[in-house]
Amino acid sequence: MDTTIRNADEKINIDHLVHEHVAMASLCSYGTGGEADFLITPNNLGELRAALLWAKERSLPTTILGGGSNVLISDKGVEGLVILTTGLTEHHVRGRIFCTQSGLPLDTAINVAIERSLSGLEPLGGLPGTVGGAVRGNASAGGLWISELIEWVDYLDKDGSFHRYQGMDGGFSYKKSPFTDSESIIYEIAFRLIPNKKTSEARLRKEQSRIERMETGQFDFPSAGCMFKNPHGISAGQLIDEAGLKGRSFGGARVSEHHGNFIVNHDHHASASDIYELSRIVEHEIEKRNKIHLEREVILLGRWNN
Ligand SMILES: Cc1cc2nc3c(=O)[nH]c(=O)nc-3n(C[C@H](O)[C@H](O)[C@H](O)COP(=O)(O)OP(=O)(O)OC[C@H]3O[C@@H](n4cnc5c(N)ncnc54)[C@H](O)[C@@H]3O)c2cc1C
Repeated sequence: MDTTIRNADEKINIDHLVHEHVAMASLCSYGTGGEADFLITPNNLGELRAALLWAKERSLPTTILGGGSNVLISDKGVEGLVILTTGLTEHHVRGRIFCTQSGLPLDTAINVAIERSLSGLEPLGGLPGTVGGAVRGNASAGGLWISELIEWVDYLDKDGSFHRYQGMDGGFSYKKSPFTDSESIIYEIAFRLIPNKKTSEARLRKEQSRIERMETGQFDFPSAGCMFKNPHGISAGQLIDEAGLKGRSFGGARVSEHHGNFIVNHDHHASASDIYELSRIVEHEIEKRNKIHLEREVILLGRWNN
C-alpha cells in the first residue's frame, strides 16, 4: 500500500496502449458525444497506475469511464486522458466474500456470485454498467442499495497511491458514496454475500429484476436512466409527469412516454446538446410550476461550458 506509481511501475511503457482521438459515442448508453483526446483501457493495476503517471507527466486531466450508463458526454469531446475501466474484470470468491475489479459488468458479477452459491445482489439484476460505476453512485434497485453489501473498496488517488475504504466507514447515502466528489479511482470491491445453495431460485429472482426493466420500457430507447435525483423523497418522474412534460422533445431528444424521469435519444441521432437542452427545459418547468429545483443525476463528462 501507499506505493507511488513511479516506484511501482517504472518499467511499464504504455505509449502503445494510449489511443488518440477516440470516438466516445459507442462507449456510453446514450450513444452521443465527441472524441476523447486520449483513451486507455488498462488491463491490470500496473497499467492503471502507469496511465495516471502518463497523464500527470503531460499535465493532462483524467476522466474515468465504466459502462457509460450514467453519463452524458459532450459533443465537443473529453479533454485529456479517458481511463476506461472495462479491462479490469478479474474476480474471485473466498468464503462469503466476492471480490471483483471495478470494470466487471454488474450483471455479470451477479451471475458469477450466484454460480458460486452467493446471494444478495439479485435485486440489481439488469442494471447496466460496471461494478465500479455502481459503487461510485451507490446504485439501487428493488429496495437494495449496493453499499449495503460492501465489505471494502480498494481505490487509488490521482497520484496512484493505494487506499482501502472499509464498509463500516460510512459515507454512503442516496446516490452518493465516499468516491462521488473525489478524483479517486475505484479499483477493487469486496462484497459480503449470503451463502445460498438454491442457485436456480436466485437466478430466477435476478432474471425477474432484469425482465421488469425490459417490460417497463427502460431499454426501448438509448438513455442514461433517471436524469434527475428525487428531491427530498419526492419522485422526480411524478413531478415531470404531472407537469405534462412526457413526450416533450428537443431535437432528437424526448422525455420518455414510459418514465418521466428518462430523457431518451429518441431518434438515435440526438446530440448530447439536444439531451442537455431538454433537461434544462424540464428543470425550468418544474422550478416554475413546483418551486422545486431538480438536481441532475446523470453526470456531464467532457467539455461543457457550465
Ligand atoms: C436503462 C437504464 C436504467 C438504469 N436504472 C438504474 C437503477 O435502477 N438504479 C440506479 O442506481 N441506476 C440506474 N441507471 C444508471 C446507471 O446504470 C448506474 O448509475 C450505473 O451504476 C453506472 O455505472 P457505469 O459503469 O455505467 O458508470 P459510468 O456511467 O461509466 O460512470 C458514472 C460515474 O462514475 C464514475 N466512475 C465509473 N467507474 C468508476 C471507477 N471505477 N472509479 C471511480 N469512478 C468511476 C464516472 O467517472 C462517472 O462520473 C440506469 C441506467 C440506464 C441506462
